[in-house]
Amino acid sequence: MRWGDFRRSDNVEDRTDADPGGGFPRGGGIKLGGGALVVIVIASLIFGVNPLEMIGAIESGGPTAPPDSRQPAAPGYGPPGAPAPGQSRAANAPQDPAKDFVAAVLGDTEDVWKAVFQSMGARYEPPRLVLFRRATQSACGRASASTGPFYCSADRDLYLDTAFFAELSRRFGAPGDFAQAYVIAHEVGHHVQNLTGTMRKVDLEMRQRDARGRNALSVRLELQADCYAGIWGYFAQRRNKLEVGDLEEGFRAAAAVGDDEIQKRAQGYVVPESFTHGTAEQRLRWFRTGLESGDMRRCNTFGS
Ligand SMILES: [Zn+2]
Repeated sequence: MRWGDFRRSDNVEDRTDADPGGGFPRGGGIKLGGGALVVIVIASLIFGVNPLEMIGAIESGGPTAPPDSRQPAAPGYGPPGAPAPGQSRAANAPQDPAKDFVAAVLGDTEDVWKAVFQSMGARYEPPRLVLFRRATQSACGRASASTGPFYCSADRDLYLDTAFFAELSRRFGAPGDFAQAYVIAHEVGHHVQNLTGTMRKVDLEMRQRDARGRNALSVRLELQADCYAGIWGYFAQRRNKLEVGDLEEGFRAAAAVGDDEIQKRAQGYVVPESFTHGTAEQRLRWFRTGLESGDMRRCNTFGS
């Protein structure tokens, strides 16, 4: 992916050096995960299953080493600390490459969604992305490396553990910058659902349903976030920001984080009623729908 000249977002809050803190404040809001270590914690209280149990089954151990020492160099993107030609770096010191990448992808999602919202006569309010190492606090509760990336509807923040990128490549065989960008774009997709009111509607609807019905609704929510991630990919592609192999990378990531794949790895069998993100085939299909159409109206995962 040619992300070197993406506009860097100002909405990244770097907590990678911060003390994780010890408390477990209870928060309101909906916490939606999306990536590989997959959690959709629609408040574990509402939910029949405890997603953390599933995570626990696939989490082998403690925090992983700091990632991104092996961040693949994109064309036009030199070695760390050496800005590529034409790349305007602000006067501040060279950034951590992981943070720079996250700010670039987030900035690009802001530009894309701003334009999409404008075309609908609406205004896009970008989310904040909290980058952390090991653990931090959110309005939806404590975030840790084991929860994976998630979106918290209460503070409208995305939470991303830097070790996750390393995990994605190591554990799920989906390395590469586009796969990582897909995960960010998926979480941004949840923010879009929050802005459009879909998340609130689904939350209300869930209160009327039993565990199986709630699970089915949460799968629809996840698949729509995949479709929205695809919409970002559509515009990246149109601006010629993708390279050969990027789409395959994204497809691989979308498939690798399907619940059936994860459960197969975790338990050796598949339990459909406990899916919270959809199967690999579903995730791939909806990601592709967004990617090929670039049209939010095509992302009606609830109507299909
Ligand atoms: Zn999600």
